[in-house]
Order: sequence, then structure tokens, then C-alpha cells
Amino acid sequence: MLDAPILVLIDLETTEAAPAPTGPSLELLTAARGLTSGDVVALALQPLGDPATAALAAAGATRLLAADLGESAHLPATAADAVVAAVDAVQPAAVLVVSDYRGKELAGRAAVLLGSACVSDATALEAAGTGESATLRASKLVLSGSWSTTASVGSGGSAPIIAVRPGIAEVAAADGAALAAESLEVPVSAEAAAVRLVSREATSVAAGPALSEARTVVVGGRGVDGDFNLVRSLAEPLDAAVGATRVACDEGWIERSAQIGQTGETISPRLYIGLGVSGAVHHTSGIQGAGTVVAICDDSEAPIFEMADFGVVGDVTDVVPQLVEELARLRG
Ligand SMILES: Cc1cc2nc3c(=O)[nH]c(=O)nc-3n(C[C@H](O)[C@H](O)[C@H](O)COP(=O)(O)OP(=O)(O)OC[C@H]3O[C@@H](n4cnc5c(N)ncnc54)[C@H](O)[C@@H]3O)c2cc1C
Repeated sequence: MLDAPILVLIDLETTEAAPAPTGPSLELLTAARGLTSGDVVALALQPLGDPATAALAAAGATRLLAADLGESAHLPATAADAVVAAVDAVQPAAVLVVSDYRGKELAGRAAVLLGSACVSDATALEAAGTGESATLRASKLVLSGSWSTTASVGSGGSAPIIAVRPGIAEVAAADGAALAAESLEVPVSAEAAAVRLVSREATSVAAGPALSEARTVVVGGRGVDGDFNLVRSLAEPLDAAVGATRVACDEGWIERSAQIGQTGETISPRLYIGLGVSGAVHHTSGIQGAGTVVAICDDSEAPIFEMADFGVVGDVTDVVPQLVEELARLRG
């Protein structure tokens, strides 16, 4: 167990009412709570209301640093400047950020600015030893998920930055008091100020839960033959995100941002359901962190069945409607 504070950068999603912390950020607070007896310090880059800060406290935060960066909070370079300012203020043992595109970019940049270590795509964290000699260990899957590696991440010049994949912890629901925010001034560097946000719009993929954060992902491959309404018909009752293979994106059946695999998103949902997906290694390398894998494919020899926990050999146009009907029946 560490005894120094751990700083957690909180990603915010825009809701109708006010910005709210994302699920993966709350997971990081819970993970940090299990690693240190010191403070777990949440860093928010936009002002938060009481429900949001109560959620931070319930998840494990004991302090809240709040900056007000407006829309530029979404820019990795500005967020990295904020991390540097917060590290100066808190002197943490480590900084945790969510390992998505923005998180990995800002982790690298903040580590360079701080002269510290950086690990991305961690899937597990543990504290080895106790007190001042305690160090953090971060594990990750590499080589298309065929190896798991664990690295000891020392503090070096300054606090190491660890980008952690969603799915690391179960978060408690908020029922307690809100945290009082301590305001943080962020000197934005000239390099960060040179990048300005021009627009930010949700695509139709973003209409459901975010792919990288979703607990359940339903993926359409070539076998759905362009019918992503079929994929959505199963995703909606499961509150799942919709993903795709590269073939489905190449065909223009869905936006490129839905692509999962070596050249797309890496996901770690509790449940992955592949519809008409053969399971090529370029695709399955992006789902190694998935919990339960379900495959529905008409080719019993398809490689997806080698990694599937449950498989149905059949035509998606027969199987999926039956599945949707059965789900509706079970839910009354
Ligand atoms: C450098 C490189 C990078 C790549 N990166 C990625 C990546 O990031 N992500 C990615 O996904 N791919 C990637 N690919 C492509 C990858 O190799 C595969 O070609 C792709 O994943 C296959 O997609 P698929 O499973 O949809 O199609 P297919 O391999 O054609 O499989 C479709 C499956 O659906 C079955 N099927 C057909 N009709 C039905 C039906 N009616 N009902 C049920 N099943 C049916 C077929 O029998 C088949 O098994 C990459 C390739 C290269 C070379």
C-alpha cells in the first residue's frame, strides 16, 4: 500500500444538466482508493455540480482540484498542462488517466513535461511493498493479447503517468456528501494554446454508450451484409455500444470510428457479441480484454469460435431476431 496521494484526471461527459464524470474515471478513483492510504485527488478540468462531486466521493476521491478550462479541456495538450499544475500542487505518487486516444496522448505529453515515466493501456494495477518503499505495478496485454506483462513504475524525476483501460474496478453508487472543490490555476503553455478547438460533434456511433467504455459491445461483421439495424436491434435492449470489423467500415456500412481491432479501437467490455464476424487476428487483437465472448456466425470453422465462450453456428438473420424476442420476453 502506498501512503502518498494518487492524482486521478477525471474525464467529463456533457449531459443536459451539467458535466458528469465518466464511468471509467470513477473506476480509476476506486482503483486508486485500493492502492494508497493517502489522499485520492480527483482533477476536474471544468466546474462540477454537487451530484458530480458526490459521485467522485462515493467512488473513492477524498479531495477535488477543479480548473476551469472550458472547451479546451478536451484538448490533450491543455489537459497535460493541467496535470503538470496539479502534480506541482499535490506531489502525488502517481497520476492515473483513462487510456483512450486523448488519455494516451496527454499521458505521453505530461510525462515529457514532468520528466517522468509513462505506461499506457494498463489493465491492472497493484501496490507492491509498503510505505515509502512501495511501488506501483501496472500490467497490460501485449502482442495481440498473447502475453501479459507487468512493469514496476517508479517515480523517477516526478510522478509517473499511467493510462488505464476501462473495466478496472466496480464503482459504488453515490449516496454521500459532495466534495468541496479546491480551485487550480493552470498556466497554459504557448504550445498548448496554439491548438484551438474548432468543433466537437457527436457522430451516430456516439448515440449509444461510448465503444471504449461500454460494458457490452455488439459487433457487426461482413456477415450482417450491411444491415446494422439488425446489430442495433440487439444492442439497444442490452444498452450496448455498436462496433464493427474493418470490412464493415470499408464497405461504408458504419462510421470508421466503430472499427475494433489492430487498426481500430481496443475494447475491454464485460460482454462482446460478434455477429457475422470471422475472428481474424487483426480484429481479435482489439478484444483480448473482453470478459465473455459470444459469436454468431454461419461458419463452424471460423476462428472466432476458438476464443468464444458461447457460440451459435447459424445465420444472423435467423438467430438475432430470436435473441431479441427472447430478451424482450425475459424482461416482461
Ligand atoms: C494490416 C491490417 C490491419 C487490419 N486491421 C483490422 C482491424 O483493426 N479490425 C478488423 O476488424 N479487421 C482488420 N483487418 C482486416 C482483417 O484481417 C479481416 O479481414 C476482417 O477483420 C474480417 O472482417 P469480418 O469478420 O467482418 O469478415 P470475414 O472475415 O469475411 O467474415 C465474415 C464471417 O461472417 C460469416 N457470415 C456470412 N454471412 C453470414 C450470415 N448471414 N450469418 C452469420 N454469419 C455469416 C462468414 O461465414 C464469415 O465467417 C486488418 C487487416 C490488415 C491486413
